[in-house]
Amino acid sequence: SKVPSISLNNGVAMPQLGYGVWQVPDDEAAKAVATALEAGYRSIDTAAIYENEAGTGRAVAASGLPREELFVTTKLWNSDQGYDKALRAFDASLDKLGLDYVDLYLIHWPLPSKDAYVDTYKALEKIYADGRAKAIGVSNFPPEHLERLIGETSVVPAVNQIELHPQLQQGELRAFHDRHGIKTEAWSPLGQGKGLLEVPTVVAVAQKYGRTPAQVVLRWHLQIGNVVIPKSVTPSRIKENLDVFGFELDADDLAAFAALDEGKRLGPDPATFDYGA
Ligand code: NAD
Repeated sequence: SKVPSISLNNGVAMPQLGYGVWQVPDDEAAKAVATALEAGYRSIDTAAIYENEAGTGRAVAASGLPREELFVTTKLWNSDQGYDKALRAFDASLDKLGLDYVDLYLIHWPLPSKDAYVDTYKALEKIYADGRAKAIGVSNFPPEHLERLIGETSVVPAVNQIELHPQLQQGELRAFHDRHGIKTEAWSPLGQGKGLLEVPTVVAVAQKYGRTPAQVVLRWHLQIGNVVIPKSVTPSRIKENLDVFGFELDADDLAAFAALDEGKRLGPDPATFDYGA
């Protein structure tokens, strides 16, 4: 496929653009993932809480693609934090996916109020040592929790998957990641398709290249070094979101995008979110 890979801090290659399946019911996910694999995506982002690991796994199996050409990410849900629970939850995820390893396993949220993420991460280190996850990492972790993980465990997270789009650019956290060799993966990279794709700057840059707003937003992510996992269940958009490697934004465009940052969160604040704890 034409998607470039980035190298994680343990040398594992991860496609810089993948396909996310949040809020896609299991049967529909099987169809959508099949469409995405057919279109050329090789990285799929699911999670236990999405309840579509089984459908994702069915599509992967049916694709006939060699396992080593695929990159499958799943995430540990909040109610499964803790060392023993995490090990059991991982077994259940692998079983639903029908795989004998995942490429990346993430802690979905830090849940500071529960204070179990260090023990939970130690279970991920065990899974990694056993070769059942080729890389491990976290999602929605602010710097203070990353600092603590780095201080109290031995495997630096390969990835932190965070809410990130032009209206929430996460400059400080991205700089922290860069200093520690953690890759930044952007969730809701298109701002959930709400508003961002109608912002005049985005529309103007899209017109300049004869591209769509979604395509120039994805280009922005790729050029600032993010891994992106846009979601769509519409086949034409699934293809459109992958077709972002034939053009480049220039310095003026990047400056115009930089000015869109307004700290606008669409999802919960990880510092206080404790749903399912
Ligand atoms: P997104 O930013 O990818 O937006 C998806 C929505 O944008 C679609 O539902 C559709 O309405 C619209 N859209 C998609 N392609 C379009 C196009 N080409 N033109 C016009 N509109 C288009 O939002 P998302 O689904 O929230 O995030 C992507 C993925 O990130 C998820 O599927 C999931 O895998 C992951 N995610 C992770 C977390 C986390 O806590 N780790 C949270 C949310 C999402």
